[in-house]
Parts: sequence; structure tokens; C-alpha cells
Amino acid sequence: MPTLVALNQVWQTAGDLVFPPVCVHCAGLVEDGRLRHLCRQCATLVTFVHPPCCHVCGHPFFGDVHGERCCSHCAQLDPSFREGRTCVLLKGSGRSLVHALKYHRALHVLEDIAVLIRETPGLADYVRGAVLVPVPLHPRKERERQYNQSRLLAQLFAAAGGPGTRVEEPLRRIVDTPTQTTLDRRTRQGNLKNAFALRKSADINPAERYVLIDDVFTTGSTLNACARVLRRAGGVNLDVVTFGHG
Ligand SMILES: [Zn+2]
Ligand SMILES: [Zn+2]
Repeated sequence: MPTLVALNQVWQTAGDLVFPPVCVHCAGLVEDGRLRHLCRQCATLVTFVHPPCCHVCGHPFFGDVHGERCCSHCAQLDPSFREGRTCVLLKGSGRSLVHALKYHRALHVLEDIAVLIRETPGLADYVRGAVLVPVPLHPRKERERQYNQSRLLAQLFAAAGGPGTRVEEPLRRIVDTPTQTTLDRRTRQGNLKNAFALRKSADINPAERYVLIDDVFTTGSTLNACARVLRRAGGVNLDVVTFGHG
């Protein structure tokens, strides 16, 4: 006698075959298109980032820019990494994709994110040949979520970068910090100061280029805390890449 759970799974599989996928932004049906989880209309709302942009966080500058290289937020960051890039702005349908991945266990959106990464101007070239280092989750958090979205994204960036681009995980998160989203910049930085450490097995090669990978760039505090650990260990050739900029 099949269990209720098994029956549910059969029903879900059958449902996927009968009904086309639903748009994660507007809940409308997704017809044929280059993305499978955003409808054509919502797919056009994804805002790719392209130059000119802040050299630290990748946020685009709008309008005329004369010699400015760092946005007003990053001016206070004192980054331990060299520079940063991002793929899309964290608004509208781009935000919905990230939220589906991060908070709703919707791993199927990764196939659309892979398309968007490949379509971001210059991004594949930017990560090519680098060692990609995902920002680690605390083990408790990862058990709860069952995956680290930054590791999954790092794998997509590595695929986009092609031969020589690879994912390594030399960092671990040793402090289970509370959710950072409601905290101000100063409190975030304080909480994160000693939140990351190098794994015992880590082997940092100063000759390699390292690129830290995270899902979103918000204040940059998390990426900066990771960057400090890598730098101290000799990873001085160090940049950051995020999928979304919030
Ligand atoms: Zn839609
Ligand atoms: Zn910036």
C-alpha cells in the first residue's frame, strides 16, 4: 500500500507533465521562451547590469559618469577584495528568482539563473580560469535549508566560465549570526567580524585568482568578512561576484 507521501509525489510528477510551469514572479503560465520559470513579459523585466558600474559592488551608475569608480555605499566599505561584479538588479522578476531559490527551496529556478549568468555582458570572461569560493552557510543553517545557494550559484558561474574555472570551499562559517537583513551596517559588520574561518584542509595559492561568490550584494559586509580571511591566508588576487544586487 503506497504511503500518502509517495502518492503525493506521483501526483506532483503527473501534475508537472500536464500543466506548464508557472511564472515565479506573476504566477502566470510560462509558454515557450528562453526562460522556463519567468513568463515572456516578466523575463523582459530582468535588469542586467553593464558598465559603467561601481568597481566594488557592480551597481550600475545611471546618467553621465565622469571618472567616478565607487558608489556612495562602497565608499565606506574599505573592501578587502579588489573589485566586484553582479549580474542583475535585485528588483522585480530578478528579485523573485533569487527569493524562490533562497527562501522557497525552488531549485528548479537555477536553470533560468544559469541562462541569465551566461547572458550577463562580460561575466563569463570575468570568472574564467578563477577559483570560485562560495560564501559558506553555518552548518545549522545549511541543515535547515538543505543546501547552500551560494555553492549552487558558484557551480553555475564555473560552468559559464568554462575550462580552468573551478569551485573550492576553503572557508567555513563558525558563528551562527542572526539574519542580517533588518540590521544596520555597523551592527552587521560587528556581527560578522569573526564569523568566518579557514578550513584546516584549505590550501590557498597566492598565484591563483580567487572570486568569492554570493547570491546577493547588499552592504558587502558578508563578502568583506570572507575576503579578510582569504587575504590573510595569502589569497591576495581576490574579487567578488554576486548574482543580484539589492
Ligand atoms: Zn510572469
Ligand atoms: Zn558600490
